[in-house]
Amino acid sequence: MDFNNIDEQKPQISDELRLIPMWSVALAVALFAAVQAVVHLYLTQHQHNLPPRGFLVFWSLAWGTVIAVYTLMVGYVTRDAKRRGMNVGLWTPLVIFMPGAIGLVLYFLLRQPLVTKCPQCSAGISPGINFCTQCRFQLVPICQQCRRAVRITDVYCGNCGEDLNVSEAFPMRRFR
Ligand SMILES: [Zn+2]
Ligand SMILES: [Zn+2]
Repeated sequence: MDFNNIDEQKPQISDELRLIPMWSVALAVALFAAVQAVVHLYLTQHQHNLPPRGFLVFWSLAWGTVIAVYTLMVGYVTRDAKRRGMNVGLWTPLVIFMPGAIGLVLYFLLRQPLVTKCPQCSAGISPGINFCTQCRFQLVPICQQCRRAVRITDVYCGNCGEDLNVSEAFPMRRFR
């Protein structure tokens, strides 16, 4: 049992990008194209007091990119909220409709830690617990004397002073 894997579930950037659903990628591309179409096909035909063409190109690319990236972020939030056990039906409209991306900022400030799965029975595990509540699988190293969680680098228990190197029942030391 490698406790490092449970402790350090810092997702990689590539894993995060893979979380973005296909529908939001398609929607982002479509919205980007729509912005270009509105500016260059519609506005140039129907508006006559337009700024110079160079500015229009820049403006449409910039806005297209902002809208596309925001669409991808909304797609990410719908998946990310689900895996963190958060209310997707509440957060998705908040992120979409709060002006100035406030909903998105709030989401990243307030999002819950990742819900992990028990390696033995795949039940959802809330952060900070020592044993799986469904199958009693031991999730973190604990002191055999007082049953408090200890860190993998601890030599003595921070709670009761038990010598963790001597403690035969300390499971992770068997792998050293
Ligand atoms: Zn379990
Ligand atoms: Zn202890």
